[in-house]
Amino acid sequence: MANKTVTIVGAGLGSLATALRLSYKGYQVHILEKQERAGGRLNLLEKDGFTFDIGPSFFSMSYEFRELFDSIGEPIPFELVELNPLYTVNMAGQDRVFQIYKDLGKLAEEFKGIEDDFEVKARKYLKGAREIFHDTEYKVIKKNFDSILGFLMSMATVPMKHLPKMFRTFWEELERHFDSEEVKIIFSLVAFFLGATPFNTPSVYNLLNYTELEHDGYWNVKGGMYKIVDGILGLLDKKGVTIQYNTEIKSVKHNGGKLTSVMDQNGKEYSSDVFVINADAAWFRGHFLGRKKYSVEKLDKLEWTLAPFTIYLGIKGQIPGIHHHNYFLGDNFKGYADTIFRSSVAPKKPYYYVNVASKSNPECAPEGCENLFILCPVPDRRVKPNWDDADSLVDEIIEDLGSRVKFDIKNNILTKVVYTPIEWESMFNLYRGSGLGLAHGLNQIGAFRPSNKDEELDNLYYVGASTTPGTGLPIVVIGSKLILERIENEHPTV
Ligand SMILES: Cc1cc2nc3c(=O)[nH]c(=O)nc-3n(C[C@H](O)[C@H](O)[C@H](O)COP(=O)(O)OP(=O)(O)OC[C@H]3O[C@@H](n4cnc5c(N)ncnc54)[C@H](O)[C@@H]3O)c2cc1C
Repeated sequence: MANKTVTIVGAGLGSLATALRLSYKGYQVHILEKQERAGGRLNLLEKDGFTFDIGPSFFSMSYEFRELFDSIGEPIPFELVELNPLYTVNMAGQDRVFQIYKDLGKLAEEFKGIEDDFEVKARKYLKGAREIFHDTEYKVIKKNFDSILGFLMSMATVPMKHLPKMFRTFWEELERHFDSEEVKIIFSLVAFFLGATPFNTPSVYNLLNYTELEHDGYWNVKGGMYKIVDGILGLLDKKGVTIQYNTEIKSVKHNGGKLTSVMDQNGKEYSSDVFVINADAAWFRGHFLGRKKYSVEKLDKLEWTLAPFTIYLGIKGQIPGIHHHNYFLGDNFKGYADTIFRSSVAPKKPYYYVNVASKSNPECAPEGCENLFILCPVPDRRVKPNWDDADSLVDEIIEDLGSRVKFDIKNNILTKVVYTPIEWESMFNLYRGSGLGLAHGLNQIGAFRPSNKDEELDNLYYVGASTTPGTGLPIVVIGSKLILERIENEHPTV
């Protein structure tokens, strides 16, 4: 009997991690990717001697990568680097820059004169966040669910003391612990990673501050984030996994409760025993399988994470007033957060994140130069479909950044690339340009999120940001483990 064959549609991180796990178990894996390069959102842009990571620039829960490579008996094929400080925060109107350290003693120094008894308060706050993380990790995140009842039963085993957190917002939880706006704002930035704001994100997600500040911190990779993809591709090659680029799946065929083939833009068909979809799990069901629950009308009613507006700048000169990971915030946090989802014009006085990889990886820029990656979260294309005003946002950010770091960025630009949500949508088939996929409100997690196993077709599975457990690099790696479990049980290979 021959080994089982698996076709994976898409070569994002969820796909690559799944291909690794399956190929080391003896499955014969073939990947079809619409782009000319693997990685999906974890991708690379090379221009005029500069190299940019286009999306993810750091991650938490590094041990999920270690688990992935341990599980296949290989050493980790890239070098993890822990961030210290985790990041810096610049607030409009304040000359000081906050360095956010994991060491709470050092962090207390940063908030001296701003938040009395910071360390004592932070330890109490993090204790609650730690408890909820460990009480839910294996019951909600690292588990396959086959029914809503099963999910609710698993949730029911989470200690009752966490219940009030279901009814508070992220911000309200912070208000219970801290007095200063600065600490509350800085500790709430992580809510934007879930694609929402701290004012509409449930308080349970304060657990992310535990993962960031106490548990495992933040990490990136020596030489740039794309080294993750390069490292995995080397191992996949060794196991005979084949990747076909510039191949977009345009339709699918099914019969007798099974997916039988997927077809590309040239009408070429690909068959296999098992299929894994790494394109958006909600969109795929509506667009290719015609599922009513995921029609455009229904998809538009779901909660989607904010869209990215990204700028990549190659700069002549070294910018002294900037670090590797930086947030630049305005002075109207709540007002900004309240309107950011709803505005159909480009944000005024935008809040943005700047990553300068060349600070730690000089090979990403020519000598004496810096590479800047700027990310400004904006509404998805349901709210703001048109980006004719993109230039005004670019100019505003460059102007603001230049004045805050006291460096003439505008007149030292050697190269510039801008991706609006329109490009993000078309590059990777991201629904309405949403950057992180489906949001993580309590009605869109666990069994309420599009499942990683198709409802009707027995040999069809999903991995990636919009299926379970959710979005983010370590989380899609967990997702690959969850579908391996299912495929091994339901379609064992020789
Ligand atoms: C700007 C930005 C910044 C981010 N920053 C971070 C960060 O700092 N840390 C972090 O942990 N996470 C971050 N994320 C989130 C993270 O990138 C994602 O959660 C993760 O990469 C999603 O991986 P995925 O497996 O869903 O695959 P995706 O990246 O979505 O890849 C899917 C692949 O499928 C391909 N595809 C789609 N449809 C088809 C089709 N029909 N035929 C063939 N191929 C198809 C696409 O081209 C793509 O290559 C960021 C995301 C963005 C956009």
